[in-house]
Amino acid sequence: MSRILITGGAGFIGSHLCDRLLSEGNEVICLDNFFTGRRKNIEHNLSNNNFEFVRHDVTTPYLAEVDEIYNLACPASPVHYQYNPIKTVKTSVMGAINMLGLAKRVKAKILQASTSEVYGDPSIHPQPEEYWGNVNTIGIRSCYDEGKRCAETLFMDYHRQNNVRIKIIRIFNTYGPRMDPYDGRVVSNFIVQALKGQDITIFGNGLQTRSFQYVDDLLEGMTRMMKTDDSIIGPINIGNPNEFTMLELATKVIDLTGSKSKLIYQPLPSDDPKQRQPNINRAYDLLDKWTPNVQLNEGLIKTIKYFDEEIRFEK
Ligand code: NAD
Ligand code: UDP
Repeated sequence: MSRILITGGAGFIGSHLCDRLLSEGNEVICLDNFFTGRRKNIEHNLSNNNFEFVRHDVTTPYLAEVDEIYNLACPASPVHYQYNPIKTVKTSVMGAINMLGLAKRVKAKILQASTSEVYGDPSIHPQPEEYWGNVNTIGIRSCYDEGKRCAETLFMDYHRQNNVRIKIIRIFNTYGPRMDPYDGRVVSNFIVQALKGQDITIFGNGLQTRSFQYVDDLLEGMTRMMKTDDSIIGPINIGNPNEFTMLELATKVIDLTGSKSKLIYQPLPSDDPKQRQPNINRAYDLLDKWTPNVQLNEGLIKTIKYFDEEIRFEK
C-alpha cells in the first residue's frame, strides 16, 4: 500500500485515477480547488477510509507525508484555461514548484500530467518525444502550452539539481465518462449536441485532426509509468495513434447516437493545431509493451451512454 497524492483529483482524469489507485489498495489524498472538477466525480469515495478529499489550490504550498504524487491540477479545456489565463500559468508553474518542493522534502516520486500541447501546431507528424514543438509564446493558447512546457522544465531541473524522482507523460486528447458535458472540448460538445438534436459546431473546415484516447488506456499507461524504476523519467507520449478529422468525428457521433443534428461551421479559434498524432514507440518499449486497447467506436459508445444519463433531464 502506498500513500498517494493526486492533485486535480476531482476532475475527469483525476477522479478515475482515484478510483483505480483505491481499488489497488492504496491510500489516496485527492486535492482539488473545484475550478473544473466536480464533487459528484468523487462523492462515491467519500465514505472510503482510504480516501481523503482536501480542498486546496496548488498555487499555495501543501504538506503531507506521501510516497507518490500525480500532478494533474490544471484546467484542460481551452474554454476553461482561457477563462483566466494568468491563473492557468500560475497553476501550472507555481503548482509544479509547490508539488516538486513537497516531493523533494518527503522523497516522493512525482508524475507530471504534461500534454501534447507542448508540441503546439506541429510541423513533424506524428510527434515523437524528441520533437521540440512549434508553440506561439504570445497567443491565447500560450497560457496552457507554455505553462505546461515550463512545468516540464521545472521537473527536469528539480531532478538534475535535487535528485527528485520524476516522471513526465505527455497526454494526447483523452475522453470518456465524467467529462464535464459543458467544458467545451470537442468530444463532449459533439455528443451533447447530437443527443439534444442541436447543430454540431465544426470549427474551421473540420479537416484539422486529433487522435483520441479512451481514459482507461491513459490510466493504464500512467500507472505503469509511475511503477517504472527511477531511471525512467520520460517524457513519454501516452495517446492513441488513430487519427481523425473533426468532420469524421462528427459523422461517427451522429451515426452512433442516431441523431438528426446538422453540421454548422464556426470560425477556427486562433493557433488551433492542424494535426496531432502521437508516436508511441517509447511507451511501448519502456512501459511493458503498453498500447491503447479501446478504439474510437467502442469508447464513444461508452461515453455517449454516460452523457445520455448526465443530461437526461435537459432534453
Ligand atoms: P479537468 O479540468 O477535468 O481536471 C483538472 C482538475 O484540476 C479539476 O478537478 C480542477 O478543479 C483542478 N484544478 C484546476 N486548477 C487547480 C488549482 N489551481 N488547484 C487545485 N486544483 C485545480 O481536466 P482533465 O482532462 O481531467 O485533465 C487533467 C490533467 O491532464 C490536466 O493537467 C491536463 O492538462 C492534463 N491533460 C489532459 C488531457 C485531456 O485530453 N483530457 C490532455 C493532455 C493533458
Ligand atoms: N472543435 C470543434 N468544435 C467544437 C469544439 C472543438 O470543431 O465544438 C475542434 C477544435 O477547433 C479543435 C478540435 O476540435 O480543432 C479539438 O478541440 P478540443 O478543444 O477538444 O481540444 P484541443 O484543441 O485542445 O486538442
